[in-house]
Order: sequence, then C-alpha cells, then structure tokens
Amino acid sequence: MNDLATSDAHAVPTLDVTAVRDDFPILARQVHGQPLVYFDNAATSQAPRQVIEVFDDYYGRYNANIHRGLHTLADEATAAFEGTRDTVRAFLNAADSREIVFTRGTTEAINLVAHAWGRANLGAGDEVLISRLEHHSNIVPWQLLARELGFTIKVIPVDERGVLDIEAYRALFTERTRLVAVNHVSNAFGTVNPVREMARIAHDHGARILVDGAQAVPHQAVDVRDIDADFYAFSGHKVYGPTGAGVLYGKAELLEAMPPWQGGGEMIATVSFERETTFADIPHKFEAGTPAIAEVIALGAALDWVSRIGIDAIAAWEGRLLTYATQRMSRIDGLRILGTAPDKAGVLSFVVDGAHAQDIGLLIDQLGVAIRTGHHCAQPLLHHFGVEATCRASFAAYNTLEEIDVFTQALERVIGMVR
Ligand code: PLP
Repeated sequence: MNDLATSDAHAVPTLDVTAVRDDFPILARQVHGQPLVYFDNAATSQAPRQVIEVFDDYYGRYNANIHRGLHTLADEATAAFEGTRDTVRAFLNAADSREIVFTRGTTEAINLVAHAWGRANLGAGDEVLISRLEHHSNIVPWQLLARELGFTIKVIPVDERGVLDIEAYRALFTERTRLVAVNHVSNAFGTVNPVREMARIAHDHGARILVDGAQAVPHQAVDVRDIDADFYAFSGHKVYGPTGAGVLYGKAELLEAMPPWQGGGEMIATVSFERETTFADIPHKFEAGTPAIAEVIALGAALDWVSRIGIDAIAAWEGRLLTYATQRMSRIDGLRILGTAPDKAGVLSFVVDGAHAQDIGLLIDQLGVAIRTGHHCAQPLLHHFGVEATCRASFAAYNTLEEIDVFTQALERVIGMVR
C-alpha cells in the first residue's frame, strides 16, 4: 500500500486528491483571473514536482553524456538512465529490460516498428489491420510504408458507440495478414479496446500486434505479458512525465531479429570501412545518438509517482470523475456525447447543436477551463461519425468533482452565449 492510497482486500483503492494536487505546482495558477481547470490531459498531462525537480538535479549535479564516459558524472547519468529502463520494465511487467527501447514518444516508437520491423516483414500483397479508432500516428506511418512496399491496409470497423466490432475484426484476417496496429484506449472517444483478446486472435492467425498505449498507460494497469503484445508504445508526457521521452516495448526475439532503424553513435558494436559495420545488442541497437537523458530520467520519476499513488487508485478515481461528468453533461440541452463504450477511460468528446466546437473551446478558456477542440488527430473516426470537430474533456488523477461542476456550469454559460 502507498501513502496516498488506501485499500483493503474488498474495497476499491482510493486516492487523496488534495494530497495529489499538492504535488502539481501548475494547478495553483489562474487563467484569465480564474482558477485553472485543466481538462486537456489526453493531449498532455501536468507534471508533479518530483518530475520537475529531476531537471534541476540532473543539470545541477550530474549532467553528462551516457554510456561512453569513464568519469563519475557519466557513471551517475548512465545509472539513472538505465535505472529508468528497469522502472519501465517493472511498470509494464515486461520480462527483460532489454525489451524497453527509449524513443521520443509514441509516434517515434510506431515509426520505429514501421521502419525496422515493417521493412523486414511486409511486402506487396501483405495486409495490415488498423482500427478506425486510431490516432493519426498509428495510421500515417503505415500508409507511408504501404505506398512504398505495396501492402494493403484494412480497417477494423466501429459500431455507433465507438466500440470495435470484434467479429468483423476476426473476419478481416487472411493468410496474408501480418500485423494488427491498434490503440489500447482511444484518445478521441476513450474506448478501451480488448487488446488481450485481439492479440490472441492475431496470434491465432500468425500475425503480430502493435498496441498504441499512449492513452492507456496513464489510466490503467498495463501488463504487456498478460496482453501478449508483440510491441507496445507510450509517451512520457501523457503519464505525468516530460515531453521528449517515450517507450517502445518489443518482445526480445522480435527486437533481436529486426535491423536497426536510425544509424549513428550508441547503436553500433564496431564501425569499419573495410568490414561490415556491426550493431549493438538490443535495446541500444535502436537508440542512435544522444538520447533525451534528463527527460528519460524524469519519465522514471513520473512512473514512480504513479506507482506511489497507485494506478488502480487512479483508475478508480478517474472512473468516478467520468461517471459524474457524464451525468452532469447529459443534462445539458442539445449536447451529444460521442463515444459511449461500456468500457471507457476518462475522455468525454461532445458536440453541441448550433455551436461550433472551436467557439466553445475559446470561450470556456476565458472562464479558466482548458479543454481541447478539433479532430484530435483522429479524422477517419470523426468523419465516420459525421463531424469535423468535437470538444474533448479528459481527466487525470488530480482532477476533482468540484472542477466538473465548474466546467459544466461554464459550459452552460458558453453555450448560452454562442447559440
Ligand atoms: N496515440 C494516441 C492514442 C495518442 O493519444 C497520441 C497523442 O495524443 C499519440 C499516439 C501520439 O503521441 P505523441 O505525440 O506523444 O507521440
């Protein structure tokens, strides 16, 4: 048990949201003279002081390039960087820290799989399955590669609630299906996808599965071995960490068999003009150049923070926020929530009759409330539902029921103004 959460064998773990909020200096600021209500967590979450302090500590005490130095600072920086690899391994319940590759974020992790695994394993006539719920970063890398290699992309459909049609998914497989690329949680609608079952179906058909976990890792316990994901990607900045650091998990045997993607320092064993250049072992084979050292260490601090609060306590609290916000918003005249999956993370996408999403976003900001408006990098999904843009409120561990009251009252005021 941790110090901010309480739990017993039967109760849902709870968190002390006041204590949680105390860790986030930014939550004390005002916006347009109003206390900030930050509901744009699916785009990026705020960072606790434990994460912010890493930067002072690193640049004030042990800033050095990693792996290749023999001096004390380099040793300390390397130990902290590699220590984070083990933190991530434990957080995802991966078997081996060699399966954890540091990237700039989810987008880079997916591009790494596309270029390194995709080029070695996909060709003309092959098929890749992608869901309609995907973020552009799990669509466009595959489209670019398909144009070059000639494979086909097939789309897993959604129903009117934004839930993937698993029977249709099963029916899409042929003997040419090589890969499924699917998110664990949709950033636009909050749908939690049954990735464990999807992995089993993919494996039954001899295909691999890449899970985009950008919206899952911050909100629920993730066990890559239980899911049996071949690849799993997430971004630090959505899980209380900094921008510039993210993770690709890959099964060791797959990473070992993949050629490198980017070339440069750090990823080689020997370089020669006379003989073949040879590459470092995994995971360093995929980490060319100087990484974002402080950011990776800070990502470790963010995951430690989550573990201290308890991911199950965070999930339960965000579930309460979602239920309460859904009830409050359902009472607003002309407001329609898009994405009504029974298994949903704390994301509420909505449109309002007679009001443009952008106008709502701009006006509600004047009242101190930060939400996102637009296509949320999920244009194929929004088009399917006949809209160009929605407003989206998304929650994190530090949000409160009172903030939802402020938000829904502000929303009603704003709707009254624009209609
Ligand atoms: N996948 C999903 C589901 C996302 O929500 C996002 C970001 O919003 C991404 C991928 C891309 O993440 P990043 O921009 O950190 O690479």
